[in-house]
Amino acid sequence: MPFFDAHAHLEHPKLAETLPEILDRMRTTQTACVTHGTNMDTNAKTLELKKQNPDVVFAACGLDAFHAANESLDAHLAFLEKHVNELSAVGEIGLDQHYFKPQDLPRQKEVFQAQLKFAEENKLAAVIHTRAAVQEVLDLLPSYRCTKVLHFFLEKKFAPNALDQGCFLSLPTVQSKDRTWIAQNAPLEQLLCETDSPYGWKNENGKAATNEPANVREAYGFIAKTRNKDLKDVQTQILKNAEKVFSWH
Ligand SMILES: [Zn+2]
Repeated sequence: MPFFDAHAHLEHPKLAETLPEILDRMRTTQTACVTHGTNMDTNAKTLELKKQNPDVVFAACGLDAFHAANESLDAHLAFLEKHVNELSAVGEIGLDQHYFKPQDLPRQKEVFQAQLKFAEENKLAAVIHTRAAVQEVLDLLPSYRCTKVLHFFLEKKFAPNALDQGCFLSLPTVQSKDRTWIAQNAPLEQLLCETDSPYGWKNENGKAATNEPANVREAYGFIAKTRNKDLKDVQTQILKNAEKVFSWH
């Protein structure tokens, strides 16, 4: 597959109606993806999607910051354990201080760290959400030896620290000054590309629009253009990175 979308949510209700066409477009554009669950319900759906589309869909499961407070961590860890051989990574996991308050952090951290430990013990990568909490995430990561992917990463200020720690930065299909800086300056060996479908896309008028994995080519093209490199060379290296980061079942 020449294109690889490191982060999508194909089970999202927004995509339900057009999913057959979205999968068709993945096949015609030769794009594979890792789709990510975020709680008990979407994790089960994620595994089902992978089972039905093993040629283009790989699965990651996690309990994210949005569901940390309301779902059982023990039940979730038991689910991960049961399905460990179907997982390409643990995710989506992480911290969020954009939608949540500082008093929500202790529970978010408890859930996040338990899953980092699971990833480490099972030699899986962790795919991490860091919105408005990048420093808090970077402070926790050195204690865990798993491979770390910071998804939808558009934080120039924190990029040097994240890269020094050996994190992979996953660049989305949205323009921003920080994306340009990261695309230009991060080692190509530490970059991935993602859509975060159904999020992370704007139409020609700059309005938020529904994203899908076939759009990931935008991020590859952007990196190639920014670095003044052949698209083929960028694709080859980023696919190599993805091969190294994710587990392949
Ligand atoms: Zn996501």
